[in-house]
Amino acid sequence: MRKGGGYDSRMSISLTQKECCICFDSKPDAVIMECGHGGICYECGKHLLANDPHACHLCRKTINYVLKMDLSTVFNDFIKVICATFIEQEQDN
Ligand SMILES: [Zn+2]
Ligand SMILES: [Zn+2]
Repeated sequence: MRKGGGYDSRMSISLTQKECCICFDSKPDAVIMECGHGGICYECGKHLLANDPHACHLCRKTINYVLKMDLSTVFNDFIKVICATFIEQEQDN
């Protein structure tokens, strides 16, 4: 994974929710990529990523990776991404 580069902020994040729309427990700090949908927490995002059909809860597009945002920066011009989880791929090693 490339380091040092920033993520661009094409993502459309729904910041109107106060809680994850899947577990209604945690704060919605995750964004699903590539579609850019949010409204869920990072744990639920990882769950969607890891389990069939690996699809966004909103648009059903296949999830490639999930970003975790720093919620204290969501109202800034540039949202800080804390970490990302990529879909596990079978590797030969
Ligand atoms: Zn959740
Ligand atoms: Zn989506």
